[in-house]
Amino acid sequence: MDLSEKYEITGHTRFGGLLGSPVAHSISPQMHNYSFRRLGIDCVYLCFEVQPDKLEDTVRTFRDLGTYGFNLTMPDKQYVIPYLDELSPAARMTGAVNTVVNKDGKLVGHNTDGFGYMESMRQAGFDAKGKEMTLLGAGGAASAIAVQAALDGVTKLHIANRKSRSWAHAQELTDVINKNTSCQADLTDLEDTAAMKEKIGASYLLTNATSVGMKKGEGASGGEDFTPLPDPSAFRPDLVVSDVIYNPRRTRLLREAEEAGCRTFNGMYMLLYQGAEAFRLWTGQNMPVEEVKNRYFAG
Ligand code: NDP
Repeated sequence: MDLSEKYEITGHTRFGGLLGSPVAHSISPQMHNYSFRRLGIDCVYLCFEVQPDKLEDTVRTFRDLGTYGFNLTMPDKQYVIPYLDELSPAARMTGAVNTVVNKDGKLVGHNTDGFGYMESMRQAGFDAKGKEMTLLGAGGAASAIAVQAALDGVTKLHIANRKSRSWAHAQELTDVINKNTSCQADLTDLEDTAAMKEKIGASYLLTNATSVGMKKGEGASGGEDFTPLPDPSAFRPDLVVSDVIYNPRRTRLLREAEEAGCRTFNGMYMLLYQGAEAFRLWTGQNMPVEEVKNRYFAG
């Protein structure tokens, strides 16, 4: 079989893709279509602009047309839940779904965002199992990370958020983790400098999952001159510091941590590994992650 024949879209080809708005900027089609072709899997991945008011119909259509499943991005991650048949523990606890598997008409919702972060940490050479972690933020990314960290065996999780918009959600997240996992979670006011110093002092890993430090013009809180932790005096060489932000690659938080001798990693590969886990759930096969990384995540 020559390559053009192998890669041809035929009457047997199954489809799936990304639902949300906006979606056109996503790198997921490249990641998944490259992997399907590379492994000879007869599937394609496309992007679909879907607002919440069209979500129910779209999900039903995806189920009825025999798709392998789909991904969801904002704002559809929460809204999709009533239209699914089953949820994974991570999806149930976060109340958000980024991956749906269509098992012969039964739709199972997963959340692979937290897995993506935890796997990117393991691939960077760190392991938080059996250790304490401080997590800044309580939004979508932070919730997924908090739940997966608790499921993956972090013993104590110190969640920190400012007392504003997402404080109530941060309290709910803390309760959900304490009720459903063996991890002990607590909540601290991010602006309480002394309490933050104590929590970070007890932690192996400090993770920023707020949007503070992101490049301006990307929905950022302030821009890249900002840090969610104005007092870096708790940094010490045996603390691992990470940021879910990848633009810029080195946020002010990571620069200050490195200056204090901490080991660091950024959010570059969280997206890759959440996609790799979705691919595994759909196909039962491992995405060729090193090739995908070199082709689409270099630079
Ligand atoms: P959300 O809006 O859901 O949450 C943002 C969080 O940041 C909230 O806890 C919010 O608290 C906090 N925050 C915002 N501004 C400030 C501030 N000035 N001071 C203190 N806290 C603040 O966003 P997401 O969770 O979706 O995204 C968060 C970050 O994660 C973004 O930078 C995003 O790009 C990144 N991300 C990276 C991914 C990856 O693959 N690497 C994947 C997903 C997200 P409050 O409610 O009080 O404002």
